[in-house]
Amino acid sequence: MSKGHPMATPFRSVKTEQAIAPIRTGEEYIASLRGRELKVYLFGELVPEPVDHPVIRPSINAVAETYDLAARNPELGSALSPYTGERVNRFLHVATSAEDLVMQNKMQRRLGQLTGTCFQRCVGMDAINSLHSVTYEVDQDHGTSYHERFLAFVTRMQRHGFVIGGAMTDVKGDRGKAPHEQADPDLFVHVTRRTDEGVYIRGAKAHQTGCINSHWLIVMPTLRLGAEDRDYAIVGALPVDAPGITYVYGRQSCDTRSMEGDIDAGNKRFSGQEAMVVFDDAFIPWENVFMDGEHEFASMLVERFTCYHRRSYVCKTGVGDVLIGAAATVADYNGVEKVSHIRDKLVEMTHLNETIYGTGIASSYQAAPMKSGAYLADDMLANVCKHHVTRLPYEIGRLAQDLAGGLMVTLPSEQELDHPEVGAIIRKYLKGRVEVDTEDRMRILRLIENMTLGRNAVGYLTESMHGAGSPQAQRIQISRQMQIETKKRMAKGLAGIASEPPDEPSRDGAQYLDRVFRAVDGKD
Ligand SMILES: Cc1cc2nc3c(=O)[nH]c(=O)nc-3n(C[C@H](O)[C@H](O)[C@H](O)COP(=O)(O)OP(=O)(O)OC[C@H]3O[C@@H](n4cnc5c(N)ncnc54)[C@H](O)[C@@H]3O)c2cc1C
Ligand code: SF4
Repeated sequence: MSKGHPMATPFRSVKTEQAIAPIRTGEEYIASLRGRELKVYLFGELVPEPVDHPVIRPSINAVAETYDLAARNPELGSALSPYTGERVNRFLHVATSAEDLVMQNKMQRRLGQLTGTCFQRCVGMDAINSLHSVTYEVDQDHGTSYHERFLAFVTRMQRHGFVIGGAMTDVKGDRGKAPHEQADPDLFVHVTRRTDEGVYIRGAKAHQTGCINSHWLIVMPTLRLGAEDRDYAIVGALPVDAPGITYVYGRQSCDTRSMEGDIDAGNKRFSGQEAMVVFDDAFIPWENVFMDGEHEFASMLVERFTCYHRRSYVCKTGVGDVLIGAAATVADYNGVEKVSHIRDKLVEMTHLNETIYGTGIASSYQAAPMKSGAYLADDMLANVCKHHVTRLPYEIGRLAQDLAGGLMVTLPSEQELDHPEVGAIIRKYLKGRVEVDTEDRMRILRLIENMTLGRNAVGYLTESMHGAGSPQAQRIQISRQMQIETKKRMAKGLAGIASEPPDEPSRDGAQYLDRVFRAVDGKD
């Protein structure tokens, strides 16, 4: 049994590795998901083919849009890979400049505009970006060869054009206890067995965005680990259709509306997806193991991942653009778009939305190179961005509901509209401005309902609250970096109170204010 053992007959899904590569378009992507015989439970039953399930399909369409954007607009949706020498989907690219990180954010905003929901690929993107530098630094400390394996894995993913899901959050049991202290050791994913071929893992990851729509999953620890948690310090990649994996689909508010007609769904085409992923002695070959037991690097991985991921939340500003547009449209349909308080509310929504974008994109601009050559976004600004995201979409949603009026929650159904008798009554009495079709008014109201109370409120609101860490997690990171003593010395100096003068900003960029004054791109 050896971590460094040469690769020996690893399980490799025929479907994911051979039959379907490379994937370039949304249509090819959807075809690639068929026939994988995944064990997916939804509504208490095994789903025969997720691609054809009406509740699941809108989430697949949202991922497909990431391929189509790259095909339509390669500058935005793809990047030149140093590993393959070709353009690859930007979600599979490791950022080697601040510009790369900025372009990720711009792509995320655009996809938010196009889908109005979560397009699910950012967790995998942020996982490969953080693993690039962490595997490099683990190797420097331990003499392991994780980085080389990791680069080989990323190159394979890029060649095939695969979707990677990032599986970090464990189910966690008693939040007051470390993994090894839990009554049930499986409440955090851990290694149960090591063989010459690889490792076997058991446990469950909760809230896994787009996992069923992915080709591969990267499993990572979710918190700082001690020596007694060594078996929980596992990072590895396995195909979504590997034996021993069960998926339990997460219900989203109003999800069954996707099984009904068109209008009541609000956004018929696109939705997000979360599921619980259960690993029952699932196998990871050594070639796909990128950490095994180096527990002291778990916190570095979590911090770097969350740094990337917290500024990935500019995705919400693309969704916010749609909601602002919906609110302006309903005001127009109601005949009040030019009224002063309506204009002011649209200005406020825009101000809040751009506040999120401003901090996210600033975090990418204020990036710095890691030892491996990958660029890491600015952690303070990433946390400020994500903290805004836990609040501002709720206010934007409140203002959208204000402008929509009560009808967004009392609107009769699409069946009534289509009914031979009551349909005429609906069209007559639910008319707004005379030029506007009643059906269009209903459609825009349903979209606002979908985004603030319905299926896509999962992505716009609660995901904004908890994804990449609940609000307190950002406050802790902000408090660690706020340099309050330095700021007190600045104030005391100006007030004429005897004190040490504040330090000149250092060029190493270790503290936030050092990074503020460093040259763009983290270089001197
Ligand atoms: C829609 C959605 C999509 C997501 N997608 C992904 C994904 O793709 N991949 C992934 O890995 N994760 C994903 N997440 C998980 C996300 O990172 C977690 O939800 C988040 O970290 C919070 O964890 P939790 O949900 O287990 O909440 P909990 O940990 O139960 O937290 C609930 C509350 O308790 C507080 N709390 C918890 N523990 C403590 C403690 N020890 N001391 C004090 N307070 C505590 C928290 O601050 C919070 O206020 C997603 C979440 C959502 C909602
Ligand atoms: S919530 Fe946003 S950042 Fe997270 S995966 Fe979905 S689209 Fe990407």
